[in-house]
Amino acid sequence: MSYKNYPMVSRVIFGRGSFNQLRDIIESKRLNRTAPFIFLVDDVFKGNPLITSRLSLAYNDQIIFVSAQEEPKTSQVDDMVEDIILNFKDRPSGIIGIGGGTVMDLAKAVAIMLTNEGNAKDYQGWDIVKNPAIYHVGVPTISGTGAEVSRTTILTGPERKLGINSDFTPFDQVILDPELVGDVPKDQWFFTGMDCFVHCIESLEGTYLNAFSQSYGEKALELCKEIFLEDTLSKEQAQDKLMMASWHGGMSIAYSQVGVAHAMSYGLGYLLGVKHGLGNCIVFEHLEAYYPEGVAMYKAMKKKHNILIPQGVCAHLSDDEFDIMIDVALSLEPLWENALGKKWKQLITRNKLKALYKKM
Ligand code: NAD
Ligand code: ZN
Repeated sequence: MSYKNYPMVSRVIFGRGSFNQLRDIIESKRLNRTAPFIFLVDDVFKGNPLITSRLSLAYNDQIIFVSAQEEPKTSQVDDMVEDIILNFKDRPSGIIGIGGGTVMDLAKAVAIMLTNEGNAKDYQGWDIVKNPAIYHVGVPTISGTGAEVSRTTILTGPERKLGINSDFTPFDQVILDPELVGDVPKDQWFFTGMDCFVHCIESLEGTYLNAFSQSYGEKALELCKEIFLEDTLSKEQAQDKLMMASWHGGMSIAYSQVGVAHAMSYGLGYLLGVKHGLGNCIVFEHLEAYYPEGVAMYKAMKKKHNILIPQGVCAHLSDDEFDIMIDVALSLEPLWENALGKKWKQLITRNKLKALYKKM
């Protein structure tokens, strides 16, 4: 038995207003005047002084606004890398991703692909990346995915939706400033927050569970319950705590895996473009058979916050389309093994998956 030796985020700063220190932190990493810092910023912040007026650019630093309407694609990463190579004489000093999981994943992937040959799709999988990425910084502006701590960047490629999982993927620096999440719309807060909740349940109920994952998963779950089921927290406390829940949830799955909800949500995402957080919600409410307590808790949270989840998203799909989703879901073998154990192939069938998808 050989244990995995995982890298972690090397530096992290936490606190309200800590975003103000970004400039000083990265300046020491500037390679030279012609090696810019590239800021990938969620375009929801275009013209919003909360972010833009605080990014004092120097030399040829650049802000690139990116839409989070769609989740990151391998082709999008390749295009961004090509633009950066064409526009700048030197390799950038660093890539700073400011946004939710979408923008943070793009920042990680661009940082990797600037130092590795070929196309992003060639690196989807586990431990294929050869060269260290360039310096990259993550600044979450919405909490839940754990993308700020994880060893992966999830991309939709021509053949599959799969992460670039590597030792070079985690950020070199993360800035956790709960003030930045202030304007997140309520529904989105819930969907992305539920990503964290589902990470906890899938990790804690999985066969891969160990004391490392459990310690983080239990803490994150306790925070989620406080945030989504109780009325004891101020708005600020809830923001601070969800940011830390996201961190712990991400750490919990680092040393284990996610499970049934994520496998099925990837299928919905690949075929229909349903976004990760919402996709998990659409799937999770039908998974009583696998996570009875988690699903009951989820339903209580949904009710308390009056959240409506789209129904009938699979109502008009053809058999071929169901097959595509089922193929994507079943291809994620570690998720099924974590959820159902080594004999998972005997326990989950294409028909069972189809019946579940039909309910959604
Ligand atoms: P997101 O980044 O897709 O953003 C969701 C919406 O919230 C967008 O419309 C965005 O513009 C908006 N938004 C973000 N911050 C805001 C703010 N402060 N104020 C107002 N609006 C704001 O959402 P997400 O749920 O954080 O990320 C989903 C993505 O994360 C998916 O692509 C998924 O695959 C990925 N993901 C990655 C990992 C990982 O470990 N790398 C883990 C889970 C999910
Ligand atoms: Zn997730």
